[in-house]
Amino acid sequence: DIIRNLAKTKDENGFEKSVRPKTLDEYIGQEKIKENLKIFIEAAKNRDEALDHCLFYGPPGIGKTTLASIIANELGVNIKVTSGPVIEKAGDLAAILTKLQPKDVLFIDEIHRLSSNIEEILYPAMEDFQLDLVTGSGPGARSYRFKLNPFTLIGATTRAGLLTAPLRDRFGIIHRLNYYTVEELVKIVKRTARILGVKIEDGGALEIAKRSRGTPRIANRLLRRVRDFAEVKGEGIVDFKIAEYALDQLEIDKKGLDEIDRKILKTIIENYGGGPVGLNTLSASISEDKVTIEELYEPYLLQIGFIERTARGRVATELAYNYFGLEYNREFLF
Ligand code: ADP
Repeated sequence: DIIRNLAKTKDENGFEKSVRPKTLDEYIGQEKIKENLKIFIEAAKNRDEALDHCLFYGPPGIGKTTLASIIANELGVNIKVTSGPVIEKAGDLAAILTKLQPKDVLFIDEIHRLSSNIEEILYPAMEDFQLDLVTGSGPGARSYRFKLNPFTLIGATTRAGLLTAPLRDRFGIIHRLNYYTVEELVKIVKRTARILGVKIEDGGALEIAKRSRGTPRIANRLLRRVRDFAEVKGEGIVDFKIAEYALDQLEIDKKGLDEIDRKILKTIIENYGGGPVGLNTLSASISEDKVTIEELYEPYLLQIGFIERTARGRVATELAYNYFGLEYNREFLF
């Protein structure tokens, strides 16, 4: 399930590592962010200081982890990678923090899922590079204070709004990563093909890019699947024809929409007269997890203008009606 399960699979981890760009210049797209980061990185290096803490938000597979490892590489420091749900106890975080070398990068994926007691430890660590730990409880409780090496925390989240305000306020550099254009995805697909040693034609790269819903992880996944078809059913070359055939087989349509996207749109149109319909209702109607809809499906449908978010819920647009070949004759009562 190429879209629904956008989390990194185990098998994919190694693959992603091998195709991951290592420098800002190799990182395709997100031009404004790269421009800014280049300056901040150079300034931090000149001052011989740790880079300011960075927060990157955007949908899964858009390049947040990649950017964090590039930053560490450009800074010439180590990176420690962890994630919000993995850090369960104060001691887990303390162990990580005390091992950081001066100016190292600590990357916390899904940072919005840190528990509040862990967050509390992070505040003085981020602000003053100080670790405050309490052991025991009641009258026997003792508190310890350690000095940490200066470090850069890079947090990643699917939505900045999920972070508590005090945590968000402690990041000096906050960037939203946007969906990639088709042209950028073409470059990403070709780059990955080159690394994998896959022969690809322009038409094949374009078809994969168009159906990757603006997301590099999907583009790379689709390339691997299309390559399988090319090897088994074709001459091993990813051209337009084999890409189109393979992607149709995978039920990823011309717009990059899958069965769940279509279910969401159809439900809004057919069961709720085009909307507005609330997220909870929608989620119950199609038996799909609310968070998955909100973080994975909806942002892309909004991006391509198929739905709109109103105060009273989601509304299907004329584009969505046209997509299904339906006539749009709604009269809005605003
Ligand atoms: P996220 O952390 O946002 O979920 P990742 O950084 O893990 O996403 O990126 C997913 C995959 O997409 C990686 O294998 C990476 O190589 C590729 N990728 C992401 N962004 C870019 C980019 N700007 N240029 C080239 N490849 C990219």
